[in-house]
Amino acid sequence: MRAVTYMGRGDFRLVDKERPSVIDDRDAVVRVTTASICNSDLHIKHGMVPRAVPGITVGHEFVGVVESVGSRVTHVSPGDRVAVCVETFCGECWFCRRGWVNNCTSPIGGWALGCRIDGGQAGYARIPFADTNLVPIPDSVSDERALFTGDILATGYWAAEISEIREGDVVAILGAGPTGLCCAMCARLYGPSRIIMVEPSEDRRRFAVEHGLADIALDPLTDNIDIIIGRETEGRGADVVMEVAGGDDAFQTAWRIARPNAVVCVVAMYGEPQSLPLPDMYGKNLVFKTGGVDASKCGEIMDLVEKGVLDPSVLITHTFDFGDVMEAYDLFESRSDGVMKVALKFGCEKIKRELDDA
Ligand SMILES: [Zn+2]
Ligand SMILES: [Zn+2]
Repeated sequence: MRAVTYMGRGDFRLVDKERPSVIDDRDAVVRVTTASICNSDLHIKHGMVPRAVPGITVGHEFVGVVESVGSRVTHVSPGDRVAVCVETFCGECWFCRRGWVNNCTSPIGGWALGCRIDGGQAGYARIPFADTNLVPIPDSVSDERALFTGDILATGYWAAEISEIREGDVVAILGAGPTGLCCAMCARLYGPSRIIMVEPSEDRRRFAVEHGLADIALDPLTDNIDIIIGRETEGRGADVVMEVAGGDDAFQTAWRIARPNAVVCVVAMYGEPQSLPLPDMYGKNLVFKTGGVDASKCGEIMDLVEKGVLDPSVLITHTFDFGDVMEAYDLFESRSDGVMKVALKFGCEKIKRELDDA
């Protein structure tokens, strides 16, 4: 099979590899049917993820069909369509029992897939702890609608939950990229009065408003964010701020536009340390929440996708055959042509290779 492989800093290549097989009795092997590319894949490519192991197959956002299972796997069987959770977690340790699966203490717990163990931008992937990390996809749900369940949608779901959004709140979200839009989609579940997104790209602002994910979309380069958010909140500031941009000034904007006693949820993964100007914040009594997703509620998310309450497939702007994955990377990284998310389809690949070989 061919697999997108992290060779070293700045170097991803499509290389031939052995198909994975079950090596632990809690494993499953999944035949990948649709995969996507995540910003974290780009972070690995550019050497921003020190834990990433050269030679690893990347990709942690994918769905497929169970091919084989180990003897202790009981929740899924060969032939089941499944979504894969970004975090491999044991489900049994102190952290997992509390839902904090990002800090699972198993040596392959937390975000390991496509980083420290082989991931899913490949024909097949081995998934440890299959019972906790695979979520069956109902027949009525397409691959495209299920694709983001285990990663960016799980991130939005987790972030909206820990942000403590109440009905009628004004929620400000910095960054209208795919993860910011998933945060908006999930924030809606809590009935905010308005979602205000702050995003420099005009394409992305338009996308957010057109899909009903933002009520107002502001340009941080030309709009006076502080004044407009003040005006929208009778001068208080945003009730909840979700920082999903990660740019140079984003963290400072995030705490500044928050009202006193707000929750500021930092979802973004920064490349640089950020300063916390405590003297300036004193008296604002802010609550900061940060970190990587605890993707422990993928079953709940799949139910909402099945009911049509969440439909993240709107984020897919481009579809490629897996054989053209490097082209898909170029497009995704360049953010050109209005790209939000790509879907990489398997199955067409075999036909294409035969044509190429002929
Ligand atoms: Zn990701
Ligand atoms: Zn665990």
